[in-house]
Amino acid sequence: MSLQMVDLKTQYQRIQSDIQREMQEVLETSMFIGGPKVNAFRENLEAYLGVRHVIPCANGTDALQIAMMALGLQPGDEVIVPAFTYVATAEVIGLLGLKPVMTDVDPETFNITAAHIEAAITPRTKAIVPVHLFGQSADMEAIMQVAERHNLYVIEDNAQAIGADYTFADGAVRKTGAIGHFGCTSFFPSKNLGCYGDGGALMTNDDDLAAKARMIANHGQSRQYYHDKIGVNSRLDALQAVVLNVKLPHLDTYNNSRRGAALYYDSVFSNIADLKIPGRQHNSTHVFHQYTLRLEGGPARRDALKAFLQEQGIPAMIYYPVPLYKQLAFEHWWPGGTLPVTEQLCDSVFSLPMHSELNEAVLERITKAVKAFFEK
Ligand SMILES: *Cc1c(COP(=O)(O)O)cnc(C)c1O
Repeated sequence: MSLQMVDLKTQYQRIQSDIQREMQEVLETSMFIGGPKVNAFRENLEAYLGVRHVIPCANGTDALQIAMMALGLQPGDEVIVPAFTYVATAEVIGLLGLKPVMTDVDPETFNITAAHIEAAITPRTKAIVPVHLFGQSADMEAIMQVAERHNLYVIEDNAQAIGADYTFADGAVRKTGAIGHFGCTSFFPSKNLGCYGDGGALMTNDDDLAAKARMIANHGQSRQYYHDKIGVNSRLDALQAVVLNVKLPHLDTYNNSRRGAALYYDSVFSNIADLKIPGRQHNSTHVFHQYTLRLEGGPARRDALKAFLQEQGIPAMIYYPVPLYKQLAFEHWWPGGTLPVTEQLCDSVFSLPMHSELNEAVLERITKAVKAFFEK
């Protein structure tokens, strides 16, 4: 039987009765947009993240866009992003007429660092979008310090790391997404907290920014039929909110289960010389949105490994094969040259199945198949 990168079906079966009861309630009240279910989820997520405001919206890409609009970023303003990320991080920057400035990343954690950011700052820089890639926080304390020194906004792209804990030097612990001026997340089905369609949210501790974001997400409306700003239409619907409300109390269990699977993978793959297991950020927990290895020997060998696994019904994915600055849509913002770590990662990374339902039998099957490739 073929495995999948993410097993949403088994997870659903465990919470089926709760989901069906909650969905039935929405169907019977016919409150499909807004209403008590969306408000309940918003409050529960605020409590879970320890953040003053959660603003639900239609997807993670919208969340990033709304954050940049609420911060008042203007055409020509520069926004620093890692070149090794999903396209959505930078897409809205281009869409708003802002300029994406792409930096290299750390080879061990795959994340942008304060040093990368500092080197990319110009007089036109207005904001930074650190991405907590694959499930662990970028070094937020150092990043917030750089931001403060240069008077920059920080928008955390937390789409892959919901539930991760970042520890500050003084011992304070905060959830990712609740540290920057805004945090943005996605509830796409395969994310660590996923709904059964599209969904997203912004987080902020700033009352004024929260009010602006709420207004922009709702057609720039200050009160009904009075529109003070150009906004967008971006809502989380009630059917998605109930899915998220049922899943939120399980999120830590889901993330622990992912960590357990990652440790199993580590224990096998750390003995294979040509494989590098994912590095850990010392001051962040890892929620393993992806388990991403690096393979020595170049992209052709990686393709061979992928094909070898595929024959045995084991999927592997390459997140991400192309640096952002080599995407046609972004080329014209790129001043030229290459970012060595990003290039090296695009040529060497591959991700194995990772989700909340991996059991020992499946992990054994996957790791045995990978081992067999190196014993050929
Ligand atoms: C998924 C994702 C997004 C976008 O979320 P959508 O809900 O699909 O719009 C943004 N950034 C990162 C890093 C993501 O993984």
